[in-house]
Amino acid sequence: MDLGSPLPAVDRTADAAAAHEPSRDCPLCPRLAAFRHEQRVAHPDWYNAPVPAFGDPQAWLAIVGLAPGLQGANRTGRPFTGDYAGVLLYDTLAKFGLSEGVFAASPDDGLTLTGAIIVNAVRCVPPQNKPTPEEIRTCRQYLEPPLHALPHLKVVVALGQIAHQSAVKALGGKLPKMRFGHLAEHRLPSGLMLVDSYHCSRYNTNTGRLTAPMFEAVFSRALALRAGG
Ligand code: SF4
Repeated sequence: MDLGSPLPAVDRTADAAAAHEPSRDCPLCPRLAAFRHEQRVAHPDWYNAPVPAFGDPQAWLAIVGLAPGLQGANRTGRPFTGDYAGVLLYDTLAKFGLSEGVFAASPDDGLTLTGAIIVNAVRCVPPQNKPTPEEIRTCRQYLEPPLHALPHLKVVVALGQIAHQSAVKALGGKLPKMRFGHLAEHRLPSGLMLVDSYHCSRYNTNTGRLTAPMFEAVFSRALALRAGG
C-alpha cells in the first residue's frame, strides 16, 4: 500500500520542530502555568516545564500521548519516564526494535529511540491528569510542528481518545468521522495512517482494559502498515 508523501510541505527538519517547542514558561494556559508554578515551589528539583518530544528526528512512527504525569514526565522531563505508564510503552518499543539501550525510568539512562518519536498532545502537566478542551486545543500548536517536521513519518499511534482527537485535528483529519477505538485505523488526508490504542496508563493495565498483547498488536499493526500491509 502506498502511504503517499508524509505531510503537506511545511518545515521538515528537526531544527524546525525544536524552534516550535514551547518556552519553559509558556503562559498560554493560565491554569497549567499556575499549577506548574506550584510544583516548582513544592519540588524545585523537578523538571516542572513543558516536556519536549523525545525520539528519532528520522522517525517513521510517531506516538502521541496525552500529557505529562505529575511524578513522571513532569518530574523527569522525558515523556513516559518516571511513572508506571512508561514501563509498558518502553518495553513494547524495545520488543519491536524501536529503541536502543535499557529503559531505567530516568532521562540519563541512555535510552534512544530508533524510527520512533513520542510527543504529548498537551505539554504541561494538568491537575488530576485532566486537561480541559481549551488547553488541548491551545497546545495543539505545539503538536503540529513536530509531526509535520518528520520527513519519513508513515504511521501515528494515538494513546487514548484525547490523543486520538488531537492527532486527527493536527494532521488534517475529520472528527467525528474518525472515531477512536482500540486498534482502529484511519487514513489521514496526507496518506499517513493513524492507529489507535487504549492509553498505557496504570489504571488501564491494572483493570485489564489494556493488556501487553493488546498493546503489542498496535505496534505490530504499525509495522505492517509501514511495510505496506
Ligand atoms: S500546555 Fe502547551 S500551550 Fe499550554 S501552557 Fe503548556 S506548553 Fe503552553
